[in-house]
Amino acid sequence: MTAPLALVAAMHQELAAVLDLLPDERKTVVAGREFWRGHLHGQEVIAVLCRIGKVAAATTATALIEHFGVREIVFTGVAGGLGPGVRVGDVVVAEAFLQHDLDASPIFPRHEVPLYGRSRFATDPALTQRLADAVRQALPDAGLHRGLIVSGDRFVSSTPEARALQAELPDALAVEMEGAAIAQVCHDYDVAYAAVRTISDRADDAAHGDFTQFVETVASPHSAAIVQALLSER
Ligand code: SAH
Repeated sequence: MTAPLALVAAMHQELAAVLDLLPDERKTVVAGREFWRGHLHGQEVIAVLCRIGKVAAATTATALIEHFGVREIVFTGVAGGLGPGVRVGDVVVAEAFLQHDLDASPIFPRHEVPLYGRSRFATDPALTQRLADAVRQALPDAGLHRGLIVSGDRFVSSTPEARALQAELPDALAVEMEGAAIAQVCHDYDVAYAAVRTISDRADDAAHGDFTQFVETVASPHSAAIVQALLSER
């Protein structure tokens, strides 16, 4: 029997859209989180809301791997656009993650994860390609970008802060609050990881906007359509 595939969502509206696709989900509570096990297109999946921030995301990934024996994690969520041409409603598939708020300098170079000798953690190439193919199939008209996503424990919502990140990390396409933590856990356990984010804002002074409405009307249907396409193609 193959190990279940984990579907991790950032917002409860998104998780609800994914759970609507599972005909037979059953709940298990571990580490205060609800893990929903079920099937989608004959494949065993576990869906979970990771909550917001790097520590919450790391706990969720660890529970998925240690408790449920997961060997593949797919994250769907929203992010702020940083790269030029990365617009609200576009989709970014991550090829690598970095923690933009990690700084143990001068002992270690800025952004380097101490004692790992690296600042960037790559996603799994094969799972990432399948995810990008699923995005193309599910959302043929959406702007699709692939590359670096940066994470930190901060909702980036001011133009000066967005500009500072763009200057510091010119190849960063988007910013969010969980992805790099999951990438580090998956690196530690040698588990395949892929992530997709719909751009909800530009991380600038207008970032607050109508975030909740965007998640409901755009991000949740995006996630559900991408997950459907990903699992139907297996
Ligand atoms: N105002 C929202 C904030 C949620 S935090 C609310 O009240 O619900 C933002 C979530 O979306 C995080 O999980 C993060 O991963 C992602 N995100 C979207 N835009 C972001 C940005 N500009 N900066 C950081 N995280 C962002």
